[in-house]
Amino acid sequence: MRKLAAGNWKMNGTSAELSELDALAKVHAESSVDVLICPPATLLSRAADRAGNSIFVGGQDCHAAKSGAHTGDISADMLKDAGATHVILGHSERRTDHGETDATVRVKTVAALGAGLLPLVCVGETESERDAGDTLDVIRSQLAGSLPDDLNGADFVVAYEPVWAIGTGRVPTLYQIAEVHELMRAELTGRFGSSANETPLLYGGSVKPGNAAEIFATSNVDGALVGGASLKASDFGAIIQAL
Ligand code: PGA
Repeated sequence: MRKLAAGNWKMNGTSAELSELDALAKVHAESSVDVLICPPATLLSRAADRAGNSIFVGGQDCHAAKSGAHTGDISADMLKDAGATHVILGHSERRTDHGETDATVRVKTVAALGAGLLPLVCVGETESERDAGDTLDVIRSQLAGSLPDDLNGADFVVAYEPVWAIGTGRVPTLYQIAEVHELMRAELTGRFGSSANETPLLYGGSVKPGNAAEIFATSNVDGALVGGASLKASDFGAIIQAL
């Protein structure tokens, strides 16, 4: 499977920042990994035009319905029409800020697949869940609840993002990352068979140029979902090179 470096710009970026894509395209041309940028929806179609065929562009969320009376929301078909190939679903900021549950993420995953998008489904424990020793149970139940049945392992991506590591500069130990990624691979294999070997498992949460190489060397880590360090092509380029 090809490695994936995914950047989540979150609620950052206006037209001026699209020039970062030009610098990224140069780095990407010299690498053999897939590169995905998920800009805010306002920039999606311009980002897709600018990135051409080199860098994938994705949404940060979609609505579960195809269309209708949902003010302010965006459907998976609309993302696809704007040039997206991927969509992040169930990010912890969506789960916290918008009350998204595993069931919500699951129906959105179905909608994304129906529109021909590759969903990046996010899971991750809070700090108190980790302190209570519940991490593996939380991940197991989020995976079970967030993914629909009958998937092929190559048709989606899972990102492990411990909530306490997002935007904090704190990163789990390599042992902790390996432990969760091994569990995720086993759970997916139990559910989807050997095709789960084709599911890219990303780590996310305070990935920076300085820690990327050791995280990528961890078993069952097939790439990264990067927030803050994806905003500057210099940082994200270094992460792509580490991959
Ligand atoms: P961060 O965010 O890299 O800024 O910690 C990661 C994410 O939320 O996807």
